[in-house]
Amino acid sequence: MSRFFSEKYQKLIAYTPGEQPQDMSYIKLNTNESPFPPPDGASVAASDAAETMHLYCDPECRELTERIAEYFKVETDQVLATNGSDEILNFAFMAFCDEKRPALFPDITYGFYPVFADLNRVSYEEIPLKEDLSVDPEDYRGRSGTIFLANPNANTGIALDTDQICGILESDPDRVVVIDEAYGDFGSESAIPLIRDYDNLLVTRTFSKGWSMAGARLGFGIGSRELIADLNTIKYSTNPYNVSSMTQAAGVGALADAMTIRENCEEIAKIREETAGALKKRNFTMTESAANFLFVRHDEIGGEELYRKLKEKGVLIRHFDKERIRDYNRITIGSRKQMHKLLEKIDEILEEKR
Ligand code: PMP
Repeated sequence: MSRFFSEKYQKLIAYTPGEQPQDMSYIKLNTNESPFPPPDGASVAASDAAETMHLYCDPECRELTERIAEYFKVETDQVLATNGSDEILNFAFMAFCDEKRPALFPDITYGFYPVFADLNRVSYEEIPLKEDLSVDPEDYRGRSGTIFLANPNANTGIALDTDQICGILESDPDRVVVIDEAYGDFGSESAIPLIRDYDNLLVTRTFSKGWSMAGARLGFGIGSRELIADLNTIKYSTNPYNVSSMTQAAGVGALADAMTIRENCEEIAKIREETAGALKKRNFTMTESAANFLFVRHDEIGGEELYRKLKEKGVLIRHFDKERIRDYNRITIGSRKQMHKLLEKIDEILEEKR
């Protein structure tokens, strides 16, 4: 730390992103990217847009916002595009949390939430998941604050259904509920249609997972006009040109090819179920995932050891050194070929231990 670093950030512990080895020699199942390439329409549009990169991009992301609104059947002023969904989540912490409204989120969830809270100097409360690692909506009743729920939840993959989300929204209409649907493309119910009925709901989404565009950095939020207007105030006070022209064009191109994306996501969900079956046969236990990853544990090998041994054998998965989930690993669903390789390496490791 330099002696110039602002006092207000000196205790900040930054988020640690998953490993991103640049040599591609690993089978990479650690950061929930898609095994499918981006849709052709997205890469062609991004490359065309690169020709005008001497000009600023459209700060309103007009075309992209219109396409997102059409696709999700909402109005354009109910949409805000951002630089990955991390950005809109940060905006939401800035906009909707303060001294009277701490952030509320589960103890096991996306590890960036406590960092966003600390960065913005708002307090937060971590609500323990149930014993089976699911969220109990009742735990959020009667608490004031701004709720952040990843649905499906990060790391566990467990999803709440629409009735449960409605219950949380209705239990206090004066409290903003942010539903982070980063993993919402793989079969769970989306809360987006609920924005018509609940002005305290913000849903965030990303092109990073199901849409095969993690490197483009594109996310967005859908919510009531008023919530989106507040988030725009934050956006125009931090970074008006937050989505590059290449990324805006890529998003428009991808939405034109949404059919391919839907097929890819269905295929990922199928591979998830096949992999879950194969891992269960090997005595792994796991949470019921509706996401593009599995959260698994095995009685004969600790989470850290499995992570390390798989890495030695060229397969990267994600281990979280956090008390309640230390025995688990999160495994991204890759292609069938990648999953076969994973199972082959797991068999070797379990054999070596016996
Ligand atoms: N929410 C959750 C639950 C995530 O796991 C991630 C990815 N790390 C994000 C949001 C942010 O993803 P991105 O910024 O790539 O949209």
